[in-house]
Amino acid sequence: MKEIAIIVPVFNEELNIPAFLKEFLKFENVLLARNYSANVLFVNDGSTDGTEEILTELIKTTPHCEALFFSRNFGKEAALFAGLEHAKGDLVVPMDVDLQDPFHLILDMLSAYEKGADVVLAQRSNRDTDSFFKRFSAQWFYKLNNKMSALKLQENVGDFRLMTQQVVQEIVQLQENQLFMKGLMSWVGFKTTTIHYARPARLKGTTKFNYRKLWNLALDGITSFSTLPLKVWTYFGTFIALISFLYGLKIIIEKLFFGIAASGYASLMVAVLFFGGVQLIGIGVLGEYLGRTYLETKRRPRYILKNQLKNNNK
Ligand code: UDP
Ligand code: MG
Repeated sequence: MKEIAIIVPVFNEELNIPAFLKEFLKFENVLLARNYSANVLFVNDGSTDGTEEILTELIKTTPHCEALFFSRNFGKEAALFAGLEHAKGDLVVPMDVDLQDPFHLILDMLSAYEKGADVVLAQRSNRDTDSFFKRFSAQWFYKLNNKMSALKLQENVGDFRLMTQQVVQEIVQLQENQLFMKGLMSWVGFKTTTIHYARPARLKGTTKFNYRKLWNLALDGITSFSTLPLKVWTYFGTFIALISFLYGLKIIIEKLFFGIAASGYASLMVAVLFFGGVQLIGIGVLGEYLGRTYLETKRRPRYILKNQLKNNNK
């Protein structure tokens, strides 16, 4: 019988954990009928509400249930990575605890796996449950990323996916600690199939990703897999230098042969301000990469575990 490890990062989710576990227990029976067993691995990402107490209690009484506890909030990417490193199963499925990733979809993933896929992605068929701004920004992120980066990300595919243990082993061997999991998980390749689903709204509580976090995640994604923003300045600079040269030539010729003095304040001011702005943007882009390189060179761990709990009946 093959085993499925379900990985669930949780951050201040005391309201959702009991409902999630209830659904899991129901689903476990459905899986057994299909000759699969399952276990859940929660990764408590430094929650400050009652999540830790609830998990500790529930794990005592629920079989096939484990949890890792971080020493503080390290972010969902780190929590997911820790989950992958500790997952015990032939197949691994990361899920949100808020029931936005429906359990029954795992059955469809299994069908695709049985037909030979190593990775089965769940693609949202719509973004009805998202705000207008989130829809808009997500669309732009995928467009921009796929234009700039050699690694193409499938639009509207989150972390909810099925992977074989072989795929997971390749992911956890990657050395970086500035993590963009969606990218890393597709970077390793393997035979990939996509299934579609309508993503329901969050069960309880609010999203843990505000716009600032989403913006940083988008920057992490692009800087992790593309150096185009760095390289584009060479070409942009060459283009501007060429135009400046021609313009300079025009001014010299006017001055020498026609005696027209270079026009004055306005054009000078526009040029100075324009190039000041362009150079600052260039330096900013450099800074984004340099900052990430700097953090990467420190080789700090991706997360710190303070505790690990297991149900003893297992
Ligand atoms: N999460 C986490 N650490 C964080 C933020 C979120 O472990 O710093 C977890 C969260 O508890 C949830 C999952 O990641 O189980 C997805 O978060 P959320 O539902 O808020 O994201 P959304 O579905 O709105 O994109
Ligand atoms: Mg969610």
